Amino acid sequence: MRDENCIFCKIANGEIPAATLYEDDEFRVILDLGPASKGHALILPKNHFADLLDLDDGVSSKVLALAAKIGAAMKKSLGCAGFNLVQNNGEVAGQTVFHFHMHVIPRYEGGPDMVSWEPGTSSGEELAKLAECIKKGLQ
Ligand code: AMP
Ligand code: ZN
Repeated sequence: MRDENCIFCKIANGEIPAATLYEDDEFRVILDLGPASKGHALILPKNHFADLLDLDDGVSSKVLALAAKIGAAMKKSLGCAGFNLVQNNGEVAGQTVFHFHMHVIPRYEGGPDMVSWEPGTSSGEELAKLAECIKKGLQ
């Protein structure tokens, strides 16, 4: 379940050192080398999964609870007012390391804008058509 060419497999399993703030049998949580804000962390499963679609049920059922635990610890220890969870899937979505990871990004009062977009517009008819289209993908 590991990929010998994957840097996050090596970090998650302790072969390459990283600033670790949490570890258990299935996950390591490290600080991002290029942080978006002070304390920006990455949740890494120890097994290799390319992205969310590749993740097994055991890991996916635990990752959100772990993100909440890390976010709560950041609020307590760093004094951030909130945090964003970001999880990129695919190059077009900004994924650069193809080992599933979840970003936990602390947000501070008065800090820079990030993880935001300009809201577009859509008619009710267009939304209804899109919902039907995606529903087909669920079948
Ligand atoms: P993504 O763009 O979602 O694939 O995120 C990859 C993240 O991994 C980026 O925020 C990088 O700064 C971070 N990163 C890449 N290599 C390392 C490393 N060796 N240690 C810690 N963070 C890393
Ligand atoms: Zn990997």
